[in-house]
Amino acid sequence: MDKQRIYDYIESRSDEFIGISDEIWSYAELSLNEYKSAACYVDFLKREGFDVREHVAGIPTAFSGTYGSEKPVIGILGEFDALSSLSQKPGVARREPEIPGGNGHGCGHNLLGAGSLTAAVAIKRLIESGELHGTVVFYGCPGEEGCAGKAFMARDGEFRDLDAALCWHPGDTNEVVTGSNAASLQLTYSFSGVAAHAAGDPYNGRSALDAAELMNVGVQFLREHMRSCESVHYSFLETGGTSPNVVQPTATLLYMVRSDNVRNAKKLLKRVNCIAHGACMMTDTTVQIQQVDGTSSTLSNTVLEQVIHKNLLEAPMPEHTPQEQEFAAELFATYSSEGLPGIAPKVDAHTRKYVREMTNNGQIPLNDFVMPYVPSDAYEAGSTDVGDVSWLTPTAQFTAVTWTSNSPGHSWQNVSIGKTSIGYKGMLYAGKVLAGTAADLMNDKELLEQAMQEFAETAAEGYDCPLDADVRAKPISE
Ligand SMILES: [Zn+2]
Ligand SMILES: [Zn+2]
Repeated sequence: MDKQRIYDYIESRSDEFIGISDEIWSYAELSLNEYKSAACYVDFLKREGFDVREHVAGIPTAFSGTYGSEKPVIGILGEFDALSSLSQKPGVARREPEIPGGNGHGCGHNLLGAGSLTAAVAIKRLIESGELHGTVVFYGCPGEEGCAGKAFMARDGEFRDLDAALCWHPGDTNEVVTGSNAASLQLTYSFSGVAAHAAGDPYNGRSALDAAELMNVGVQFLREHMRSCESVHYSFLETGGTSPNVVQPTATLLYMVRSDNVRNAKKLLKRVNCIAHGACMMTDTTVQIQQVDGTSSTLSNTVLEQVIHKNLLEAPMPEHTPQEQEFAAELFATYSSEGLPGIAPKVDAHTRKYVREMTNNGQIPLNDFVMPYVPSDAYEAGSTDVGDVSWLTPTAQFTAVTWTSNSPGHSWQNVSIGKTSIGYKGMLYAGKVLAGTAADLMNDKELLEQAMQEFAETAAEGYDCPLDADVRAKPISE
C-alpha cells in the first residue's frame, strides 16, 4: 500500500495529536497517579470508536483500546507518566520551573503516548476503510518510571494474544533499539527491633538500624562474588527517626537486584535475602521482605527490527527551521556533551565512523539521519518493563529524535523541548514509523511468521514473571 496515505492522514490530524501531547505534558502526573492523563486517552479512544477496557490488571490508570476483529493483532504501547521535581517552562533554554517543585515530563512520555496513539488511530482508519485487515490494540501502560506497569499487566494476562508489539521512545537518535536489558527485582526490607535509651539502657535495645547497616555491609561483600552483568542497588526509606540517643526500633531499606534474566535475578535475590536474615541474627531483630515490583530482561526480535528500520528510512525525516535549530543549539549548550549519540559499545567501527561524520563528532544539536541497523545481542545494565511484553509476543522498539544530541536523561532540558515544535515533529515521525511498520506486518503474513519463529526460539524458556502473585501495583509515594 502507498504509505504516503498514512503520512498524509497523520499530518491532517496533527493538531489533535499535538493537543493530546500538550495536555499530558501539562498534567505531568507521577507513576500510577496518571488519572487525568489516562482519562484524556480513554475519552479520545472512545470518540474514535475503539473498544476500550479500563482498570486493566486492576490498575486504575491502565487501559487498552482495540479496533478491528481480524488477525493479525498488532499492539502499540503507550506510556504517559512524568517525573518528580522536573517542572520546567517549555521552549526555554535555561532552568526555570513552570510550577516550583512540580513534576515534569523529563522522559518525554507525553510525546511517547501521543506518538503511539497517532499510529493506532492511523491504522484504525485504514482498517475502517478496508485498506488493511487486522486488529490494532493501543495499550495505555502506566507507571513506567519505577512501578513496572507493563509487568503487572503481563502477569495478569495481557499481551499474550498479540501477534506483535511495537513501541518507541523519545530520544536523540532515529534508531532501532536492539539487544537486551537487565531483569530487575525491587524489594523493601523492613527491620524491627526494640527501642531503648541509647545511653540509659542500651542493653534493652535491639537496633533495626544496625541490622540495616549490617545488611548493606554484607551485600557489599557479596558484590565481589556476583557475575559482571549483575548489580545490586539500595536506598534507605526509613531509619527509625533522627534521634541518636534512641536505639532505633525500625529501619527500612529499598533494594534493587539486577541480572541478565529473571531466573538469575531470583537466584541472586536469594543470596541477598540470606544476608538480610544474617543481619537479623546478628542484631536479634526481625525483617519483613516485601516485593515492590520487577521487570524482565528484553528479548529483541531482528525480523521486526528490520521492518522498523525500513520504515525509519521510508517515513519523511523531519526538517527543522532556523529558529528550531537556534533553540536546539541554546539547549545543547546547557550541558556538557561528550561522545557520540546513540553509540553503545555494541557498535562496529564502520558505524562509529559513519555516526562521527553525520554528527560532526557529536557536535550537531539535532540529529536528522537514521542510524544504521546493526543487530546485536549487546546487553544494557538498565531495565525496562517492555521486557515483560517481549517474553509474551514478538516485540520491537525504536527511538526518534525529539531531544538535542546527548541530552541528559530525565532532565529539565527534555521537559522544555517536549512542548515545542521539535518534540512534535519527532513524535509525528515516530507515529508514521509505527503505523508504517504495523501496516507492513498486516500486509505480509510471512514477516509475522518469521518474527514468531524467532520469538519461539528466543523465548523458548518461557516467561518467568518477575512479580510474585500477591504483589499489587502501587504508586511510589504509597
Ligand atoms: Zn521513558
Ligand atoms: Zn524514564
